Amino acid sequence: MRVSELVKYLDNEFPLSLQESYDNCGLQVGDGNVEVSGVLLAIDVVEATLDEAVDKGCNFILCHHPLIFKGVKRIAGKNYIERILHKAIKCDIAIYAAHTNADKIIGGVSYKMAEKLSLVNVTPLEAENEQVYKVVVYVPVADKQKVSDAVYANGGGTIGAYDCCSFSVDGAGTFKANDGCHPYVGNIGEIHEEKESRVEYVVSRRNLSKVLSAIDEAHPYEEPAIDVIKLENTIVAAGMGVVGDLETPVAPIEFLRRVKETFRCEMLKYTDIDKTDAIRRVALCGGSGSDMVGLAKRSGADILVTGDVKYHQFFDSYDGPIIADIGHYESEQYTKEIFFNVLSKNNIKFAVQNSTIKSNPINYL
Ligand SMILES: [Zn+2]
Repeated sequence: MRVSELVKYLDNEFPLSLQESYDNCGLQVGDGNVEVSGVLLAIDVVEATLDEAVDKGCNFILCHHPLIFKGVKRIAGKNYIERILHKAIKCDIAIYAAHTNADKIIGGVSYKMAEKLSLVNVTPLEAENEQVYKVVVYVPVADKQKVSDAVYANGGGTIGAYDCCSFSVDGAGTFKANDGCHPYVGNIGEIHEEKESRVEYVVSRRNLSKVLSAIDEAHPYEEPAIDVIKLENTIVAAGMGVVGDLETPVAPIEFLRRVKETFRCEMLKYTDIDKTDAIRRVALCGGSGSDMVGLAKRSGADILVTGDVKYHQFFDSYDGPIIADIGHYESEQYTKEIFFNVLSKNNIKFAVQNSTIKSNPINYL
């Protein structure tokens, strides 16, 4: 697989359209024509990460935080960004960032936090809805799976955290191929009846054209019969932060201890826990989620677990949930597992390794 092919795959898994306006996701540096020798997964790229990539035979770094946010005017080694870029170009290493788009996809950074804390009924804290379409395809029964695979590979058939969703019913299709046609089955000038499946998929607006092209390519017929129906309902296509429930409520201090252990925190900051006897509902936001207190309150959460909370923002807890600041890096450390799972789905032929370099610039005394 070439770098450009991997970039295309990742752009599909982590849609760039989901990123925040200040963000700079996607390929930061790299030559699309180079064969991928291995992928190194990291939260941040520091200079040591590039040495690690070379040592491990990886020429592609998939990281969470972009290296470049603002315009770079020169690559002359004056700061760590210029040095890393210079080394990446010299060593022919591609760097790709999946940041706020990885935060916002269903199953993204905060979902991973929820999984680690065994939350149930997990939904986005700030949901982004998208127009959906019903795509109906009539396909010979034997080719149903091929068409479905093409739909799923392009983001169709996804409802919330479920994918590969479809409904089908078998019946008979008829058609008569006229002069100039090249029918897959049947003869010119004769009405043919074929056992077909009518398969339905939900497809979001963002994926519609990709899915329709993929169906066209996978379908055996010269003129596939496809209905595209605009639905009145929308689906939750993405969102920032999550909220979910604990199956068994626990005392606040017990929950905080669980959080501290789960996220391997050397310390965590938290507000008054005497305001409730038990934690039942939990809001989470990986990275900097201090502005999510209002949403966490409206979601009925007893506690908001996030990072980067400033002193004055802790006061918001008087009118909202308990706030626990576990550290930015700590809250996002398991994002590498999301990257690994996304790459594993793609039947990759190269090695994927986790960076073991400590990239968190913060130490605790
Ligand atoms: Zn972050």
